[in-house]
Amino acid sequence: MPFTTPHLRIGVSARIYYPAGPVLDLGGVWTKTLHYLEQSVAHWLLRGGALPMMIPAVDAQSVTTREDFNLRHYADSLDALVLQGGNDLSPHSYGEQPLDPAWAGDAVRDRYEMALLSAFIDAGKPVFGICRGLQLLNVALGGTLYQDIPTQRPDASEHVNRSHYERNRHAVELVPGTRLAELYPEVTRATINSIHHQGIKDLAAGLVVEARCPDDGIIEAVRSRGPGFVAAVQWHPEFHTPGEDGLFDDTPMLIDFLRAARAVRSADT
Ligand code: MN
Repeated sequence: MPFTTPHLRIGVSARIYYPAGPVLDLGGVWTKTLHYLEQSVAHWLLRGGALPMMIPAVDAQSVTTREDFNLRHYADSLDALVLQGGNDLSPHSYGEQPLDPAWAGDAVRDRYEMALLSAFIDAGKPVFGICRGLQLLNVALGGTLYQDIPTQRPDASEHVNRSHYERNRHAVELVPGTRLAELYPEVTRATINSIHHQGIKDLAAGLVVEARCPDDGIIEAVRSRGPGFVAAVQWHPEFHTPGEDGLFDDTPMLIDFLRAARAVRSADT
């Protein structure tokens, strides 16, 4: 896709790396908390002609909280938001206790991304969630998650395979009549990657299901009833190889998101 000017500036929520206890004698950067942007996410947005920009995580609980720092400033300065994939949500974020310590998740990132989400929604800027981003959106709007699909839905397909990672795939079916289905008039069923052990349990009232795994009904894409553009997918579009036979083509979805961002910018100027 050609770049068009002015370029869209797309905020991307940070993935957060926490140093795991004392790090032998490695020192340096590995002892610090890191904010990072996965290259494939940046490249996916660049492919759409947009400029990805990572937004640092600072929330009310951060030691570096500054009175003059407000995520609303980012929402005002940028054209749209992408919620990156990453680690689990904390069950506390949807009113549950972790069923296993391994599923305790990242409450700091939950708070940060919920604040980001509401800042962008309040500013009327489009939001697109990837994997964890779909789960975050559902929880932020009042829904709940399976803490672990294999435990809580033993009938379900394999939605994660640690050794196959993004090469783990399953079928997806688009729900007729939705915006997603409208973008893909020729597609009812496709193949997507699947790298998640959590998933939507109770859908937030403000969301519409746009795609499911046909084998177990697990929700794979959602969209807000509005106003504005807020959508998310459980798969990772940034890991799909464009043009691969049978694989879902994420390009129309990306273009639709960026078109929404451009429409908001045009209306603002
Ligand atoms: Mn899946």
